[in-house]
Amino acid sequence: MASLVARPVTHRLLEFGATAVFLGYAVGFQRRVAFASETSEDRLVILAGLLCGYLVADLISGTAHWMGDRFWNESTPILGPNFIAPFREHHVDPQAMVAHGTLELVGNTAVFAFPGLAAAYYLLDFESGSGWALFNAGLLLSTMLGVVATNIFHRWAHMDQPPSFARILQRTGLVLTKQHHARHHTGNFDRAYCITTGWMDRLLDALGIWDRMERVLGRDPR
Ligand SMILES: [Zn+2]
Ligand SMILES: [Zn+2]
Repeated sequence: MASLVARPVTHRLLEFGATAVFLGYAVGFQRRVAFASETSEDRLVILAGLLCGYLVADLISGTAHWMGDRFWNESTPILGPNFIAPFREHHVDPQAMVAHGTLELVGNTAVFAFPGLAAAYYLLDFESGSGWALFNAGLLLSTMLGVVATNIFHRWAHMDQPPSFARILQRTGLVLTKQHHARHHTGNFDRAYCITTGWMDRLLDALGIWDRMERVLGRDPR
């Protein structure tokens, strides 16, 4: 999500730098994973890690969205204008994000994601060839990529005419679909918080996880 408020040039430069560095590490990470996988078993383990990471990305998107919708407000220091306002503005004017550029959609997330990816790049022992290292590599890579791409997928779900490759991804269910995300906007904004793929919503909503968490945290669920 990106704010409707104009971003200062310095912030745009930060977003651009963070996105470029993130993409650089993602490519390097992917190359090291590819070199480290030698057998079909290795590739299966990496695939399992990629799948789990994509689920984790969806869960992170849902958790961040839930917190942005349900806690604090736009005037909360630091968090308010940068994190809370975009979520609240999106409920009032869901189509506004369709006009946002890609950098605006991914930049803020990349600022937070690139240090994690960089740390994993240097700390993970890919070359050991251990299944655990390969699984973690796949998991971290798809978690980070999924999280950073979330607002692009979210934007596609609000577009009347998404790009053709986006429509293919939506048809395969690999990214958030318009129909699924409509459950959030046509309801009371109290369900279907996950906006990477929406895969985790079925479980989270069926178990009433968000309401339970709000009770635990001392807030009355709607
Ligand atoms: Zn939306
Ligand atoms: Zn929302």
